[in-house]
Amino acid sequence: MTVLDSLIKQLSRLPGVGRKSAVRMAYHILRADEGYAAALAESIVHLRQRIRPCSVCGNYTEADPCDICSDPSRDRSIICVVEQAQDIAVLESTREYRGLYHALTGVISPIDGVGPDDLTIGRLLERLRGGEVTEVILATNPTVEGDTTALYLVRLLEREGVKASRLALGLPVGGDLEYADRLTIARSLRGRTALSSD
Ligand SMILES: [Zn+2]
Repeated sequence: MTVLDSLIKQLSRLPGVGRKSAVRMAYHILRADEGYAAALAESIVHLRQRIRPCSVCGNYTEADPCDICSDPSRDRSIICVVEQAQDIAVLESTREYRGLYHALTGVISPIDGVGPDDLTIGRLLERLRGGEVTEVILATNPTVEGDTTALYLVRLLEREGVKASRLALGLPVGGDLEYADRLTIARSLRGRTALSSD
């Protein structure tokens, strides 16, 4: 395989990039000045070398704990639970929320063989036992798996004596947080509803 073919093959593996786009990108890189190609390659390598999940909340970060966990101005009485670390950036972009986060690294999905123990639920419970947290916002996606996970967490939170609320109002059913617009997310944060398991 030539170097060009190899690059095209690697680029085609990216989400949303078909073979045609991969070919176009590869030729673009080939024609661009050498500095661009080097900077692009370096950024990709650094991304994997330097960015790690925060040991507290799971947010992608270069410093551990992350900027949000170590920010003294954040409200430590409230944790927003999201499916993936990348959802944190989406919620942050609304500038509506000043509490902390917790990334589950997935959702409960028996079909895919994912159970509660495969997620960071244990670590979330540890954080609650510090006693500082009084409310948890469940911002899992409005899908069957997201709802199942939220319901499972509501029961656990009740046992811990922590108030649970659900971020769902205004979000399209089956839609991902990732694709919702900022205004919709901001509105659903303000209009979050209290939950109980009964
Ligand atoms: Zn963090």
